[in-house]
Amino acid sequence: MSFFYPKNLKFECNKCTLCCGNTKEKTRHIIMLEEEAEEIQKQTDINTNEFCFEITDQQPYMFEMKTPHDEKCFFLKQNDCSIYSFRPMICRFYPFELKFDQEQQKYVFNATAECPALNQGKRLTQAYFKRLFWLAEEKLL
Ligand code: SF4
Ligand code: SF4
Repeated sequence: MSFFYPKNLKFECNKCTLCCGNTKEKTRHIIMLEEEAEEIQKQTDINTNEFCFEITDQQPYMFEMKTPHDEKCFFLKQNDCSIYSFRPMICRFYPFELKFDQEQQKYVFNATAECPALNQGKRLTQAYFKRLFWLAEEKLL
């Protein structure tokens, strides 16, 4: 296991839905792997054309979610994710991202300051980041 993660950081999602769409400050890009878009299509019986569009500049991500309802994700319904159990990896990672640090030759988890639930709630353990790392390993590395 070769990654750094923020120690002693608290985080517990308060379901504010900020990360599920655009804000005044930020245009959200909810990008997906092809297999993720296909899984959502399979599970929902909604054609990929309806909920996402193809992108070509963010390999290996091939699709981006449409944000038709007040610039919120296609699958946000009554302030809840209607595809929670098969939501894309990018949603599972938020508010964190994983980058490879060339200098340290290690993967590093960073948090975005945007999420209001950072430093609130439960203290995150290494196990939390391990699960995310395994997910990225399985899908990307
Ligand atoms: S912005 Fe943070 S608190 Fe709000 S829904 Fe997203 S993860 Fe949860
Ligand atoms: S898939 Fe779910 S968690 Fe991801 S942006 Fe859409 S509503 Fe939010």
